[in-house]
Amino acid sequence: MNENVLEVINLETIFKRDQQEIKILRGVNFSIQRGEVLGLVGESGSGKSITSLSIMKLFHGTSGEIKNGSISFHGTDLTKLDEASMRQLRGKKISMIFQEPMTSLNPVLKIGKQLTESIEMHMKLTRKQSTAHAIKTLKSVGIGRAEELMNEYPHQLSGGMRQRVMIAMAMACEPELLIADEPTTALDVTIQAQILELMKQLKEKNDTAILLITHDLGVVAEMCDRVVVMYAGQVVEEADVFELFANPKHPYTKGLINSVPKIGDRKEVLDSIPGNVPSPQNMPQGCKFAPRCSNAMEKCHEHEPEIETITESHFCSCWLYASKEVALHAK
Ligand code: SF4
Repeated sequence: MNENVLEVINLETIFKRDQQEIKILRGVNFSIQRGEVLGLVGESGSGKSITSLSIMKLFHGTSGEIKNGSISFHGTDLTKLDEASMRQLRGKKISMIFQEPMTSLNPVLKIGKQLTESIEMHMKLTRKQSTAHAIKTLKSVGIGRAEELMNEYPHQLSGGMRQRVMIAMAMACEPELLIADEPTTALDVTIQAQILELMKQLKEKNDTAILLITHDLGVVAEMCDRVVVMYAGQVVEEADVFELFANPKHPYTKGLINSVPKIGDRKEVLDSIPGNVPSPQNMPQGCKFAPRCSNAMEKCHEHEPEIETITESHFCSCWLYASKEVALHAK
């Protein structure tokens, strides 16, 4: 059954600097269904993490603000909710795993206290029930000595163990949506494989929708059902994972895929995309990828392409696939 857990429509997020609004997300659209893993990929600065922070509305201490668009979670527009209502959702219905566990673990509180506080608050359980649930959750993420670990501080644990604890915290209240922002980037490959396997199991068990933010296309191939490619604060391509790797359309997606080493590759230097993601204060006119694109045409530098339907599940915004022409120099 296709049920959208999350639907992001025309999301625009800005940051203010020197009384100027800097647009970081420029009309982002995507949705995630129950039990689906959606990969959000792109280079640093493409807007992936700001998308996740916008969904969580985690802008504390920054000048970030959602300017336009909607983020519908089971039909409720999160952009309209106040902080108290968001606090009720965070950790319970929507959870987040960060790249660096110490971002969300409090260094001066024991693991047990951090886990049970959230469980008590969101699941309305007694202290005793919360403790039992916390231990059960730690065991479910493969931590054998869960009872002992409840009395330890985050600094006493290895990086892999801290990441497991953070996943346990994120999963403790059985969220419907899990946002994982580069969850395995800081880990070595063995632990990375274990953590990915764990997320897969949790998805199977609870039918959790997962938004997986990563720059690692290997992780995407391993985990995702569908992929959204972001560039310069916009979605430039969306397809199911097999289609995206077999038949990428957007020159940027092709560049990302070609820059990953392949088995049997004898190249000494990997392909790379020339240049850098443009700064939000200095966006080029027309297609934002044009300065780096070897296929760029005159119209690419003047007009922004719209999202085109390639197949019913494959979309791309590039003039190479446009169904309608534009008049150059048109006002
Ligand atoms: Fe390249 Fe033009 Fe397509 Fe942009 S619209 S990606 S510049 S071909």
